[in-house]
Amino acid sequence: MGNILIIGACGQIGTELTKKLRETYGRDKVIASDVRKGDAAFVAAGPFEVVNALDFNQVQDVIEKYNVDEVYLMAALLSATAEKNPAFAWDLNMNSLFHVLNLAKAGKIKKIFWPSSIAVFGPTTPKQNTPQYTVMEPSTVYGISKQSGERWCEYYHNLYGVDVRSIRYPGLISWSTPPGGGTTDYAVDIYHKALSDGKYTCFLSEETRLPMMYMDDAIRATVEIMQAKPEGVKIRSSYNLSAMDFTPKEIAEVIGKHIPGFTIDYAPDFRQKIADSWPQSINDDNARKDWGWQHEFDLEKMTADMLEHLAP
Ligand code: NAD
Repeated sequence: MGNILIIGACGQIGTELTKKLRETYGRDKVIASDVRKGDAAFVAAGPFEVVNALDFNQVQDVIEKYNVDEVYLMAALLSATAEKNPAFAWDLNMNSLFHVLNLAKAGKIKKIFWPSSIAVFGPTTPKQNTPQYTVMEPSTVYGISKQSGERWCEYYHNLYGVDVRSIRYPGLISWSTPPGGGTTDYAVDIYHKALSDGKYTCFLSEETRLPMMYMDDAIRATVEIMQAKPEGVKIRSSYNLSAMDFTPKEIAEVIGKHIPGFTIDYAPDFRQKIADSWPQSINDDNARKDWGWQHEFDLEKMTADMLEHLAP
């Protein structure tokens, strides 16, 4: 096996993914890269390169320099940030993917992981237990870019035999790295504010139910789909993936069991409209059947783990 390159390694997922892949395959087999330099400890923890995912030559050079044959493309503009700069979001989210797909088509790399999102669904999608195959009319630029990306992944697989694998992540919750501008970021912030202030003002309304997942589960799913035998990965657009779903009111109630007196109030902003266009819960039967996906964390278990790690 050649080496692994992570593009966008300094982000919420990339940081954890880099750690996990180094534990699994060895420190020097995993090259972390990002358009910005990570903090000193991250850069010192293994090979690190500054790479702009939009620069085809830079990506190709680092692949050749390190004899890379697997790429995890985590660079993107997330849902809330993308709405503020739609043209740039489209450019970054699409062209970074084309560069990597074209490098695989040219035989320079063997395998790609590219994350999609529940944002591929839209207001006309069935909201509960959203199936793998259903109406998909995303209304955000982020969702449009992810849905287009899925189509291109499947196209490159079918026409050129590119081994690309993908998951539609729900909102991801983690304690070690801050989230990067998504609509589900409240579910991370709430733990920090619960511990520091004993109260939280949520940018979504109390009954806004969204699909969520703890980072440990998301990282394990990512590693597992990449380790699956190619014939086990039957869907080459992107897999639905699910662990839990909850509302701001429900997460606040569970936090309140650990931090008595914790209070929440609500001041919905522009992100409410994005959240309202997304599913409330996801059906992931295909991932469970095809490559054995099983989640470990529900809301109670995640809350205990988050508070244990974040407690001063
Ligand atoms: P993030 O914003 O925390 O991290 C993205 C990283 O990409 C950042 O470190 C950023 O510096 C880097 N980056 C930006 N532009 C770049 C460029 N031109 N070249 C190289 N690096 C660049 O995002 P994340 O939460 O880690 O998400 C990673 C992927 O997972 C994205 O594709 C995102 O859409 C997807 N995803 C995330 C979530 C979530 O809840 N975090 C949910 C669904 C899908």
